[in-house]
Amino acid sequence: MSADCIFCKIAAGEIPSRRVYEDDDIIAFHDINPWAPVHFLIVPKMHITSMAQLEEKHAALMGRMMTLAPRLALEQGCEPYPEGGFRIVINTGKNGGQEVPHLHVHVLGGARPWKHG
Ligand code: 5GP
Ligand code: ZN
Repeated sequence: MSADCIFCKIAAGEIPSRRVYEDDDIIAFHDINPWAPVHFLIVPKMHITSMAQLEEKHAALMGRMMTLAPRLALEQGCEPYPEGGFRIVINTGKNGGQEVPHLHVHVLGGARPWKHG
């Protein structure tokens, strides 16, 4: 856990969130400021600052996060592929639009139009 990291605090339960999934290594919760009808974040419990800090040892964890995405997307109301589907976004760094420096996977879906994109 990294001190003063908002997503570490959410993972530890110190800041409340609307959780959609949790296991020993991963949590998923609704984005506080959604820009699509379905918008949740998949987050590793361990503090990894961004995609830029990923190492080979994180491959299995990242693989699990990515394979969770389609399952949770359906559970949260995304219509099935191909008419429905979802968008995955991983903002990385300042130019990548990252605001929270703890790696997270945005999962966006639901009927359009969306607020962005
Ligand atoms: P980024 O721009 O870093 O990719 O996205 C950060 C996301 O985290 C934003 O979409 C923002 O709405 C969300 N967020 C920031 N603070 C909180 C919080 O305290 N709780 C929840 N549930 N989402 C948050
Ligand atoms: Zn953190």
